[in-house]
Amino acid sequence: MTTTAPALTHATLQAADPILEIKNLSVDYGFGDDPTHVLQDVSLTLNRGEVLGLAGESGCGKSTLAYGATRLLPPPGVIRGGEVIFTGRDGVKTDILTLNDKDLRTARWRDFAIVFQGAMNSLNPVHRVGTQLIDAIKAHDKTATKQEARERAAYVLEMVGINADRLKAYPHQLSGGMRQRVMIAMALVLEPELLIMDEPTTALDVVMQRQILEEITDLRDRLGFSVIFITHDVSLLVEVADRIAIMYAGEIVEAADAKDAYLRPRHPYTKGLLNSFPPLRGPRRELQGIPGSPPDMAQLPNGCRFADRCPFVMDRCRTEDPALSRTALKMSEPERLVACHLHDGKASEVPAELALQAPQK
Ligand code: SF4
Repeated sequence: MTTTAPALTHATLQAADPILEIKNLSVDYGFGDDPTHVLQDVSLTLNRGEVLGLAGESGCGKSTLAYGATRLLPPPGVIRGGEVIFTGRDGVKTDILTLNDKDLRTARWRDFAIVFQGAMNSLNPVHRVGTQLIDAIKAHDKTATKQEARERAAYVLEMVGINADRLKAYPHQLSGGMRQRVMIAMALVLEPELLIMDEPTTALDVVMQRQILEEITDLRDRLGFSVIFITHDVSLLVEVADRIAIMYAGEIVEAADAKDAYLRPRHPYTKGLLNSFPPLRGPRRELQGIPGSPPDMAQLPNGCRFADRCPFVMDRCRTEDPALSRTALKMSEPERLVACHLHDGKASEVPAELALQAPQK
């Protein structure tokens, strides 16, 4: 159990009512003398009732951050340091990293639940959907009778837009979108305060993706839980997230209000990522990939990790690692953190496309 936190080495956006505070989380892959440092001192705060989107290319560390914070990292992932403070509705603070196994198992369903990547394929094919939901409820709520568990299973299924009749269905009798909704229902059976969703719609078509995203935000509005939504598709996040954090090579490089970051990205990587995906709404635009590939995490370069791919690279980017810090903001602008030398006040000129601009009316 927690409490006093050490001084942060990275800035975090001001949290009005934090439900989850990840502080200086460090994760290695490998147990030997020379492990790979995949996350170093990463800090991030999620506010109560907020949908926070985590985006970045494959391998940037976004799933590692979420699984590390909830102690679900498979080997060879090892947590090397940090704190993950969960604050319940009752105001009690808990450091997830120090929970014993029994308390962690309880917290995993009651306080936070996870919808894993490809979860829709993890339903047991030989059991009816209802049986699997009822088993999940009874495994984590010993006081629930079979009738109560059945009623709750029907309720959560209807909540995610599936008729309760389908409790009798086997997974193969449901479409991919419905199976994914069943997994979301499974995560919600104990009404957790925090839902972590790792690429929950990746395997679905665009129409189904949008339907599920709308349901998630609708459920959040009705039930008041908080969400960490992980995806490589940053355009998708703008549809669903209140705030986004962009990760690159194991670091957060930009954290901002989602719509503001979409309209006015300030980190060159955020801009590149936005240009790489078609928008879900609005006119089509030409897509431009980001040239090159992320650095090898076992042999990180000095200075900025994005330097080899950045169109605005300067000499000092090759030697000085930019810190994640607040940009100089006008009072009217939403708060924003950026890790880029273009925005630390020392650059002679900020490219117009990344410069702070007044919001368009
Ligand atoms: Fe580009 Fe330099 Fe900013 Fe890194 S610090 S993103 S290399 S301008």
